[in-house]
Amino acid sequence: MAPRDERPPSSAPRTPNVLVIEDDVDLCRMLADGLAAAGFDVHVACTAVAGLAEAREREPDVVLLDLTLPDLDGLSLLARLQGAERTASIPVVVVSDRADDATRSAALAAGARAFVAKPLDMGALLATLRPHLAARRADRPGPGWERAIAQGVSRLVHADLDAERVCRAVLDGAMEILSLAAATLWLVEGEWLVLRLQSAMYEPYVRAHPRIRLGEGLIGLVARDHRPLTVADVSTDLRVLNRAVFAGLGLRGFIAVPLLHDDRLLGVLSGARTTPGHFGDEDVQMLAALAEHAATVLAQVRLLGESERRRATAEALAALAAEVSAAHEPETVLDRVVAYVKQLVEAEIAYLEVLKPPEGQATILKLVGARGTRMARIAPAEGQGIDGWVMRHDRPFRTDDYLTEPRITHDFDDVVREEGVTAWAAVPLRARGRLVGVLGAVRRGPRPFTADDERMLVQLAAQTAVALDNAWLYREATRARAQWEATVDHLHEGLALVDGNRRILRINRTLASWVGRHPAELTGRVLDEVLDAYAGEEAHARLAEAQSGDGPRLATVEVPSLGRTLEETLAPVAQAAAGVQGLAVMLRDVTEARRMQEQLLRSEKLASLGEMLAGVAHELNNPLTGVLGFAQLLEAQVTDPAHREDLRKLAQEAMRAARIVQQLLRFARQHAPERRATDLNQLAAAAALAVEVEARAAGITVETDLTPDLPVSFLDPHQVQQAVVALVTNARQAMTAAGRTGRIRIATRQVAGSLELEVSDEGPGIPPNILPRIFDPFFTTKGPREGTGLGLSLCHSIVAAHGGEIWADGTPGAGATFHVRLPIMLPPGSADAAPRRPLARAAVPLRVLVADDEPAVRDLACDALAARGHQVEAVADGEAALRRLSEAPFDVLLVDIRMPGLDGRAAVERLRRPDGAGAPRRIVVMTGDSIRAETRRWIEATRLPVLDKPFTLDALAAAVEG
Ligand code: ADP
Repeated sequence: MAPRDERPPSSAPRTPNVLVIEDDVDLCRMLADGLAAAGFDVHVACTAVAGLAEAREREPDVVLLDLTLPDLDGLSLLARLQGAERTASIPVVVVSDRADDATRSAALAAGARAFVAKPLDMGALLATLRPHLAARRADRPGPGWERAIAQGVSRLVHADLDAERVCRAVLDGAMEILSLAAATLWLVEGEWLVLRLQSAMYEPYVRAHPRIRLGEGLIGLVARDHRPLTVADVSTDLRVLNRAVFAGLGLRGFIAVPLLHDDRLLGVLSGARTTPGHFGDEDVQMLAALAEHAATVLAQVRLLGESERRRATAEALAALAAEVSAAHEPETVLDRVVAYVKQLVEAEIAYLEVLKPPEGQATILKLVGARGTRMARIAPAEGQGIDGWVMRHDRPFRTDDYLTEPRITHDFDDVVREEGVTAWAAVPLRARGRLVGVLGAVRRGPRPFTADDERMLVQLAAQTAVALDNAWLYREATRARAQWEATVDHLHEGLALVDGNRRILRINRTLASWVGRHPAELTGRVLDEVLDAYAGEEAHARLAEAQSGDGPRLATVEVPSLGRTLEETLAPVAQAAAGVQGLAVMLRDVTEARRMQEQLLRSEKLASLGEMLAGVAHELNNPLTGVLGFAQLLEAQVTDPAHREDLRKLAQEAMRAARIVQQLLRFARQHAPERRATDLNQLAAAAALAVEVEARAAGITVETDLTPDLPVSFLDPHQVQQAVVALVTNARQAMTAAGRTGRIRIATRQVAGSLELEVSDEGPGIPPNILPRIFDPFFTTKGPREGTGLGLSLCHSIVAAHGGEIWADGTPGAGATFHVRLPIMLPPGSADAAPRRPLARAAVPLRVLVADDEPAVRDLACDALAARGHQVEAVADGEAALRRLSEAPFDVLLVDIRMPGLDGRAAVERLRRPDGAGAPRRIVVMTGDSIRAETRRWIEATRLPVLDKPFTLDALAAAVEG
């Protein structure tokens, strides 16, 4: 017997099947030939028992029964056939050589459909048989399995073309028809058969065996050969892949049939029962018939699914196109794209990656569906993993199982494993002919991606690339525009673009801010309304002329409403595309520049004035030194108190004159401050003390409000104190002159990198009209004997020399406040100058050499020092000094810096050389203010004691005696 599992299925359309039960061999042969020739499938039985068995087995469409049989009479057999469920409905035609009516009636009464008498006429016999065949097919319920199939199929029909329900109907039908213990339904997906549905028993094994390759195992075999298969015992058959599973479930007999539609394999339906042994032909036929119907329905479902999917895809692509062209933000595009990928290719993870051009690495811009966070950070270089493959080959790629895929490198396997990924599809993203990234879809289940999925991804990628490119371009353009606007807005120049009717098309923030508006408020308005400078006929003409001209025009415009002077440039702008002739109006605020210019002019004037003053002061310096000195000397000698008093007044006047000269000189020369570590609070306190007595006499209190622990700054304490005293003095004078009493407040504080000092009073304040001029030299509102107009200008130059600022404010009628801001200076590299020594000390007789070309100074110094008991000699220049020093020993050299011939500096330098012979123990230099800054620096560097001219005798003595 041929192995039953190799038997071809008998699923072809059936030919009418006739069973002949007849003991006459010749007649049998004649009937068999004749019926076969007429297109019948004929089986023959020569005994009643054989006939009965054949009838049961084959369930023929019609039985031709001889009434005289060797083992049992025909009517008895007829009764048997009618009595058994399986054969009851088979039409039986009785053949008899007795043609009498009794025999005929008996046969018909027993259930025969027709009675035919021998000898047989083939034509008459066929004519008798046919209606019964037709009747059986048309009217009578078919045999059990056909009913079952019919039921299964009707289930399928009622399954509504819903894939899930169709599969369920097929599975349930199979279970019921064959009384199976377990059943599975597998569908073809690419190279795989993927388990689509299973009966409850198989449920626990779904995870372990979700898919099978074509050709593998029993299911794979059926799929490969397109033929049904039965196996007597799966728990021992070597072809079975998962024998243990079947054994574990106690499954033995196995059956599987292909789901074929138009010769195309859609899947495999399989079942098993717990008893061993082959399924019979009938079972195979039944399952095959069910499978055939199921395949037809599934094919329809698929077709429908595909067209549905195509429709959905087309819709999605259209929607994507609409959405992304409306969305200018790349972020939105990305969101939509990955959502569509996920939905359309039924992926669990979808992502979009872009290339970073220089390194060629890809970065994930958007990812959905990942469980962990690591996947989003994957950054494949060309050649790495699937995306790297796509980047290198610029072609789509898909794999059914990432982890075992041999064509790719496995740089990211740990992440892939962590995500439980199996199938993966990735396609290149190309924009303007260039690879810009990768679009990918990932699944975790057994289902691989198909060629259709890939096509869909390619379409999505094309759409996406365009959209993203647009979004990027748009973003670039927006950024560029924003950048440009920011630039234009941050210009110091005001900028407006107007059309031929002077209507504002664009205006920058600067210009808008001049009129206290936002650009948006001014766009569309007429320039005349915004700036009154453009209101008149003349301005209109100017604009019109500029617009018709071919180059920029410059002009200066006063805009009284803004209190500004503007420099205007008008440039015609041809906006060819818009067909508009426009005009660019550029306005530069030159108010400040003009003011600066004026100031510069003034300071130039001041500089030349200073030159002259310096000369005058210098000339006055020496005679004043003489007057002062001699007056003091005489005072010491004169005994008459009245004369002494006169001499004292003379000396006082001379001192006053000397101070004025000093001020003049400081103002004129504005020499560099002599900086040393200074506590501004101390200066402020000292200034307060200096004016306190006079102030109190006038009913004014001087208060200080000093911020403690101000940093020590390197300032010229004398200069700064002078400035503070000048400010406080002015305050006191202002209050006194206005007959007011009250407070003067000196405050200090630190502001960022500066020290600030404020002097405020409760005087009349400063009228606005004179406020701009108070720092001018010689500007005064006081009488000739009271004011010089130099106080504030000196303050100004001192503060300026310190790199600081001074300004005044206050409310007219309610006092003035002067603010001084001095940047905090750190110690210079050189050491601090030696501290001043106290004046006057007991005289130890010294040998002193005085070198000065001014006879008055020379004589004064000689007389004064001699009066203190010193031995004094004098010379008129540097050479004479050096000569005299080499001749005789001296303790002290008092030397003037500015002398004809060898000057003081040169002389001192020679003396301080290692070979400098006769150098005295102490050298004191005398300076007038007319020495150059460079010389002053030199003196500072030498650290020699300095005696400033004009000097008091005490200062002279202190300088010489040390
Ligand atoms: P002077 O004090 O010799 O007039 P200044 O340069 O010190 O010269 O001052 C110039 C002018 O500034 C003064 O004449 C006065 O009009 C004005 N001024 C200065 N300080 C004050 C003050 N505290 N209150 C009101 N006016 C002041």
